[in-house]
Amino acid sequence: RAPVLTIDGPSGSGKGTISRHVARALGWHYLDSGALYRAVGIAASWADIDLSDASALVRCTFDTEIEFGDEVGDEPRVIVNGLDATDELRTETAGAAASAIAAIPEVRAALKDRQRAFRRAPGLVADGRDMGTVIFPDAGIKVFLTASADERAERRYKQLKEKGVSVTLPGLLREILARDARDANRAVAPLRPADDAVRIDTTGLSIDAVVERVLALLPA
Ligand code: C5P
Repeated sequence: RAPVLTIDGPSGSGKGTISRHVARALGWHYLDSGALYRAVGIAASWADIDLSDASALVRCTFDTEIEFGDEVGDEPRVIVNGLDATDELRTETAGAAASAIAAIPEVRAALKDRQRAFRRAPGLVADGRDMGTVIFPDAGIKVFLTASADERAERRYKQLKEKGVSVTLPGLLREILARDARDANRAVAPLRPADDAVRIDTTGLSIDAVVERVLALLPA
């Protein structure tokens, strides 16, 4: 079976950027599992489904087509039901919707096989919250990234501002803390490091420095 390197952590820990860099350096495939939850959240909002209507959300999960396209800048395009949702996907509204639907066990179960299908030769870098604990528990290398809440909010702020999204730093910090609390306290697949994960605190570290540390975990 193709090797898997999992990179889990809270929002703004640098998971996405680090995972894409590591995947590129290795020539491996990349799974942005958060994008799947965000895509379902967006499809639900397009269909006017209420975030409290669990059974409609589960149906929506099965019905939503999600494709990853060519890279724009650093990130692959995300096509939801045939429509380009790349920009909408990155908003904190989509993040909050994703976090709400991600707490529904049947939604998580419905996305399990779709995530595992990304495991292909020569290897996969899987980015998310439960990659090392639930989706790929047999992964050869597991990383758990953290960073201080202030730094995570600042990183998101910069990312969103570059995209022209209007946000305030204190508002973003509040939203991130609320989302983290929900992700950590939910009954199903709560955010926590796998027992065999290597923890890296990225506060104050450059992208290159973190990438280097992750690559150093691979057998030579
Ligand atoms: O990583 P990202 O911010 O894109 O994830 C959005 C939300 O999707 C998270 O806040 C989390 O609730 C959910 N998620 C999850 N499991 C994953 C990836 C994301 O529950 N593997």
